Amino acid sequence: MTDLPKASNPLPSQVDVVVIGAGAAGIAAARRLMRPGLSMIVLEARDRIGGRAFTQGFEGQGLDMGCGWLHSADDNVLTAQVEAQGLTLDQTPPPWRTQAFDHEMTPADQAAFGQAFADFDQRVTEAADLFRAGQGQDRPASDFFDPDSRWNARMDAISGALNGARFAEVSSLDYDAYGDTGMNWRVREGYGRLIARLGQAVSSITVTDCAVRRIDRSGPLLRLETNRGELTARIVVLTTPNSLIASEVVRIDPPVPALLEATAGVPLGLASKVHMTVRCAGDFQPDTQLWTRTDTAQTGGYHLRPFGRPMIEAYFGADLAWGLEAQGPEALFDFAISELVSALGSEMRRRLEPAAVSGWGVDPWSRGAYSHALPGHAADRATLRVAVEDRIFLAGEATAPVYYGTAHGAWMEGERAAASALAALGFAPDRDVDERAS
Ligand SMILES: Cc1cc2nc3c(=O)[nH]c(=O)nc-3n(C[C@H](O)[C@H](O)[C@H](O)COP(=O)(O)OP(=O)(O)OC[C@H]3O[C@@H](n4cnc5c(N)ncnc54)[C@H](O)[C@@H]3O)c2cc1C
Repeated sequence: MTDLPKASNPLPSQVDVVVIGAGAAGIAAARRLMRPGLSMIVLEARDRIGGRAFTQGFEGQGLDMGCGWLHSADDNVLTAQVEAQGLTLDQTPPPWRTQAFDHEMTPADQAAFGQAFADFDQRVTEAADLFRAGQGQDRPASDFFDPDSRWNARMDAISGALNGARFAEVSSLDYDAYGDTGMNWRVREGYGRLIARLGQAVSSITVTDCAVRRIDRSGPLLRLETNRGELTARIVVLTTPNSLIASEVVRIDPPVPALLEATAGVPLGLASKVHMTVRCAGDFQPDTQLWTRTDTAQTGGYHLRPFGRPMIEAYFGADLAWGLEAQGPEALFDFAISELVSALGSEMRRRLEPAAVSGWGVDPWSRGAYSHALPGHAADRATLRVAVEDRIFLAGEATAPVYYGTAHGAWMEGERAAASALAALGFAPDRDVDERAS
């Protein structure tokens, strides 16, 4: 990727601010923090920036391995950046509510399924309203299934994609709090490429291949231990995935028990992607969707011909994705083929070739795809936003109250944390920080 910095920068011994992680949140924070008189460094464990926003090149195209959709595109702080960064905004609506070839679902079935899901969402919202009025509990979202509905398994398959987890593991309150305007657009060249381009503004102060292991907060300055040496800082903006804080891959020392508990309450679920080329692609309508099975949650979603390309993008979630990733990339591709063969016929086997397979669950720098709150833990996202001693500020998709799990939510949180860090350093407040982030 030509957008990425070629060589990493040296590690200073002392700075005012360290931003840990150069994903969407870290890049947003660093861009906001850059100003005369403030010394800063961004430390990134991987050899590239972007984190879970990553576009892989393939035959001149960009394949998004992590985020692909500008969710709530009409209220998304990154939408305006697409064309500003010289990239192409694609407003083709997503096909998620359709079923190619009416496979296993007549149009009436599809309408019934849509209604069943809307009814489920309504029951979750009513319970959340009651909770906010002081009644009821934060329960597993699956408690709001209609036990007699034939669509529960299919809804749980979709939960795997939405939440990276089954509804039984998802807090009903947190699920209800998610913000979705219903508008979803894409970046033709790749959402990951957009984040990488935005990261160029801070490439001169970014050190890659630099994993932070420990933040020692016992002294007047924070002391950071990394695989490339030590440094001190007045302020840290910590944007690593929640999973790495919960497991103390990045250890705050002495530990902050409330923070550790909150990171465990909002774990990362998993979603895995398999990009495949397909021969005789003209048999499929561009940008259509196929769910191969309706009787089980152990199934993938298949986006046929994304951007009209001769490709299929498979998406697996939750326990299915964890199990397949544990067996390796071939297992993901084999599973996709077996499902497409059983749905569309045996000739699919020779028509499909793997192009790229994600592995966010086995990746040591993410250990999952995006966060969901466990039942009873919806309030933990707010706890994650509470600064430690007004000098360690967490930000990332997991700290976002409404747009959690998304790249633009992470971006807003990076900006929010940067504004708090600037205030702690005595700088005047930024007037243009997005109000929705506060
Ligand atoms: C398969 C998949 C599909 C998705 N689809 C969408 C979508 O369509 N739309 C959408 O908006 N979002 C989507 N997302 C979610 C989105 O990609 C993330 O929410 C967002 O990119 C997270 O940004 P972040 O800055 O919070 O974390 P990250 O991007 O994970 O950034 C954290 C950074 O910290 C670094 N790091 C980790 N440990 C250390 C350490 N010890 N020291 C230094 N650095 C460290 C990491 O390498 C990483 O670069 C998807 C994610 C996945 C995985």
